[in-house]
Amino acid sequence: MKALVYTAPNTLEMRDVDLPQPASAEALLRVQAAGICGSDMGGFLGHSLRRKPPLVLGHELVGTVVSCDSPSFQPGTRVCVNPVFSCLRCDNCLAGRQNICSGWKLLGMDDVQGAYAEYVLAPVSALHQVPESLPDEVACLPEPVACGVHLLRLASKQEFGSVAIFGAGTQGTLIQILARLLGYRKIFVSDVNQERLAVSEKLGADVVVHAGEKDVVETIRSETGGRGADLTIDAVGRSVTRQNAIAACKDGGEVLLLGMAEATTEVDFMSFLRREVCLKTSFAYSAADFRRAVELVVGGAIDIEPWIEVRPLEDGQAAFEKMIGNPGNTIKLVLKP
Ligand SMILES: [Zn+2]
Ligand SMILES: [Zn+2]
Repeated sequence: MKALVYTAPNTLEMRDVDLPQPASAEALLRVQAAGICGSDMGGFLGHSLRRKPPLVLGHELVGTVVSCDSPSFQPGTRVCVNPVFSCLRCDNCLAGRQNICSGWKLLGMDDVQGAYAEYVLAPVSALHQVPESLPDEVACLPEPVACGVHLLRLASKQEFGSVAIFGAGTQGTLIQILARLLGYRKIFVSDVNQERLAVSEKLGADVVVHAGEKDVVETIRSETGGRGADLTIDAVGRSVTRQNAIAACKDGGEVLLLGMAEATTEVDFMSFLRREVCLKTSFAYSAADFRRAVELVVGGAIDIEPWIEVRPLEDGQAAFEKMIGNPGNTIKLVLKP
C-alpha cells in the first residue's frame, strides 16, 4: 500500500509498504482522510522523542472498516478512531482518565504506524461509527475537538464568565467554538496571524487582539474592568503566551495550559502565588471526552468547514511545510490517500 513516511527531520516520502495485518480485537481500516495535528508537525520537525523515523505519522482519521473480528463493525462501516490507546487496567484508566495512563500509546507514534497511508490498524474498542453524509474533512475532527472538550471540562466553575484564548490555530479556534456552546459571555482571542484572527471574528469572538500590534494583557484587563479574564487558556505553548495567560487571568481565576511549543518557561511565582490563580494543564482526552466530541461533530456543532483545506497524501511534504511556515487562514489541513 501507499504510505507517507517520515524518513528524517523535515522529510516525508511516499513509499510502498506492507499492508498491516490485524491482530485479534483489531480492525483494518481503509483511510478516507487524515488531519495534520500540531503534534505531527512537532514530529516532522524532529522535536518529538517518541516519533523516530521511519514512521507513518497521523492520528486524526476517518475511514471504512475492511475487516474486523467484532460483529459490531461490519465491513464498509464508516468510522473515526480514538487514537489514544490506553492499557485499560491501571488506576488512571480505571478512573476514566485514559489520557494519563502510564502506558498510553498513540497512532503514529513509537512503533504504532499512523494514518497517513491507504490502510491503518486500530483496536475495535477505539472505533466510533460516523454517518456517510458527513464530509471526510469534517469526519476527522473529533480528535482535535476532544482535546478542547477535555480542556473545558477541567475548567471548574466559570460558567457565563469571560475567557481569553491565546492562539487562533486549530485548538484555539475549536476551544472558542466550544466555549461559546458552554455559554461563556465574553471571549477574547489573540494571535499574531491576522488571517486566523479574521476567522475567530467570523466565528463570533467578542474581542480579537493582534499580539504583534497591541498589548494583549492590557487589552484583556481594560475590557474586563481592570480585573482580567475569569479563565485564560494557552493554546500555543510559547513562553510569552504562557506568561500572558497567567498575567491576563483575574485574581482567584483559572489558567489552563494546553500548547506544547516550548519545554520550559520562566514564571514569576511571587506575583502569581499572591493572586491565588489556579494553574492546570490539559493533555489529550478521555474516552468519554472523545465520545462527546464525536456527538458534537456529527451534530453539526463544529462549523469550521470553510477553513479546512484538503490535499492528496502525495502533497504531504508541502502540506506540512505550509502548516508550519504560513498556514494563512487554514485552520485544519487534511490529507486524502
Ligand atoms: Zn491531534
Ligand atoms: Zn492505563
